[in-house]
Amino acid sequence: MARLGMLFDLNRCVGCHACTVACQAEWELLPEQHFTKVHRYEIGTFPKVRGGVVLTQCMHCDDPPCAKVCPTGATQERPDGLVIVDEQKCIGCRYCEPACPYDARSFNKERNVVQKCYFCYHRLAEGKHPACVDTCMAGARIFGDLEDPGSEINKLINSKKAIKITGTGIAYVPPRNLELDRSLLPPDLQQPGVVRLWQDIIHPAGKAAMGLAAAAVVTSLLINTLNKGGRERAGKED
Ligand code: SF4
Ligand code: SF4
Repeated sequence: MARLGMLFDLNRCVGCHACTVACQAEWELLPEQHFTKVHRYEIGTFPKVRGGVVLTQCMHCDDPPCAKVCPTGATQERPDGLVIVDEQKCIGCRYCEPACPYDARSFNKERNVVQKCYFCYHRLAEGKHPACVDTCMAGARIFGDLEDPGSEINKLINSKKAIKITGTGIAYVPPRNLELDRSLLPPDLQQPGVVRLWQDIIHPAGKAAMGLAAAAVVTSLLINTLNKGGRERAGKED
């Protein structure tokens, strides 16, 4: 039986957010919804500051805590390890959100359902990869069968000495230019206290990055509007 999972190569990720945007488009998410996130971090003190990115999303846990609290059975784990939400059964009670140790669930207020990364199961059924994987030009996201010793994902996990997050379907190739600060990666599922600690570390950085991205978009829109107005005025004056 297959066990589907994903490997994030943090040496390859350039932090472009193309995966986040591709996912939003694929699933027609609301602007505030992000199934996959790109967190920037900095460690050290000036002048020896080094930084990088950590990718996070639903970890497709074994024995998922989100499924345990779902009163309608809308959240289920498939035999291949993929954790899905049947949106027809979801009543929007949101019990699953605090139950998820990785803060991976996302409420869609227009549809009154809680959603998350589904590894694009509709694309898998067509023999394709998840949208984020196909979009990542850097090759930082590798999807495949963790149970198949010959799969690309397993070969890379072994050759790059990746860290598997125990109890989940996710593994990371740690950044080579940093001594690995393990606290930057999501903890193993069996360590709930440590998960909370990790959230405190990674979330302020992630939120700051999202805030900067939003500010950049607003600034860019403003500049475009001003430029357009300037061009129109110049056209009239000519
Ligand atoms: Fe990193 Fe690839 Fe996502 Fe860009 S698309 S942020 S390189 S994982
Ligand atoms: Fe459920 Fe959260 Fe685990 Fe995903 S990461 S399977 S949403 S508990």
